[in-house]
Amino acid sequence: MSAAVARPFAALLLVATLLVAALPARAVTLLRDADIEHALAMVAAPVLRGAGLSPSQVEVVLVKDDSLNAFIVDPGTIYIHSGLVMKLETSSQLQAVIAHEAAHITNGHIVRRLGNMRNARTATALGMALAAAAGASTGSGDAAAAILLGSQASAMNNFMSHTRAEESAADISSIRTMVNAGLDPRGAVEVQELFRGQELLSAPRQDPYVRTHPLTRDRLRALQGLVAAAGARAVPDPETEYWFARARAKLAAFLRAPNWTLRRLERMPSKDIALMAEAVAQHRQSDLKRALRAIDGAIALRPSDPFLRDLKGQILLESRQAGPAVQVYAQARQLAPRNAQILGGLGRAQLAAGQYGAALGTLEEARDRDWRDGRVLRDLAVAYAKTGNTGMASEVTAQRYALQGRLHDAGIHANRALGLLPRGSAPYRRAQDIADAAARAEKKR
Ligand SMILES: [Zn+2]
Repeated sequence: MSAAVARPFAALLLVATLLVAALPARAVTLLRDADIEHALAMVAAPVLRGAGLSPSQVEVVLVKDDSLNAFIVDPGTIYIHSGLVMKLETSSQLQAVIAHEAAHITNGHIVRRLGNMRNARTATALGMALAAAAGASTGSGDAAAAILLGSQASAMNNFMSHTRAEESAADISSIRTMVNAGLDPRGAVEVQELFRGQELLSAPRQDPYVRTHPLTRDRLRALQGLVAAAGARAVPDPETEYWFARARAKLAAFLRAPNWTLRRLERMPSKDIALMAEAVAQHRQSDLKRALRAIDGAIALRPSDPFLRDLKGQILLESRQAGPAVQVYAQARQLAPRNAQILGGLGRAQLAAGQYGAALGTLEEARDRDWRDGRVLRDLAVAYAKTGNTGMASEVTAQRYALQGRLHDAGIHANRALGLLPRGSAPYRRAQDIADAAARAEKKR
């Protein structure tokens, strides 16, 4: 990422600076997990292709939030709350949610709103866009929207909300997408039924999905008509079903009480998923022996699955077994050499094992492949500090705060980096962008 990339997004940056000035800092916490993101990508791929999008260009990323919502802030990412994934019962319901968001992308609904923005490609831009999304999610985005949208603001609920016209356009496109892709479109109606009646509730009692995607009785009726006309009763693809079940099982194993998971192992759809969920639950109860026995059982069933080894590496690392964790993460990397989160796990293990030089290389590679992973940025800053490069440590820390929408803290670290880095170098220019954005935001206060 060079400083030149930032220029086309100056419009967004200005908008986002205004938003941050108006909003209390509230970060969106992304839930990054190699396994779950791969599973979501497998569920999303046929939908994205059906919508004319490339699965390699649109990622589905989870937001750690119990409420129900799905949204876009740029055309390259569909954000879905973990609460919504936990609530959905079938892969075709999740595909319907993705098809609907994909339709907002292909219909240009978000791009239009954000002016010339094509992608939130800097940490500052993305961090502030996500902060705006968080404001919308809590229903506190109105003040920001008023600044952002000027006279149009009164016609819109808040910054992230779609209009009713956009909703019906997205519904029509999404059903067409599902049918073209040979997928069951009934999930779209089932998803809407989750929210039925909520339009009558006061804003704080609604799920944010209802505010960002206004539901009316007319809309539901139109959607039912579209689905009935489509008539398709496609049988879900077993591979899609498998990955949907795996994503939900892993999410639940990490988010619910370990006992809840352990009581449901018998009901899991496959033996490897049950063993994976058991490993997570035992690990969260600090039972390393049982956790390893379970994850090794899962690996024996799927020996070339990189994500099970990624989980084993995590279990070892979090149990202070840094050396063995490095070995297992290295196996995972061999199976998935380009996966940024597996690289991040390997780098984290190398850092814990005191292999600072190796960690630095691995974590820079991870950042190169995914600059939005806050945990990689945190570890990378430690690796730079351990190897005596405080200028780079400050630059990376500034990026991490910017990504969280914490522009004030980002500015402090960016200015520190500017005093230490070679003038005009690429990291110097990245720090300069953040320092400038932070200074503009301070002025608006
Ligand atoms: Zn919508």
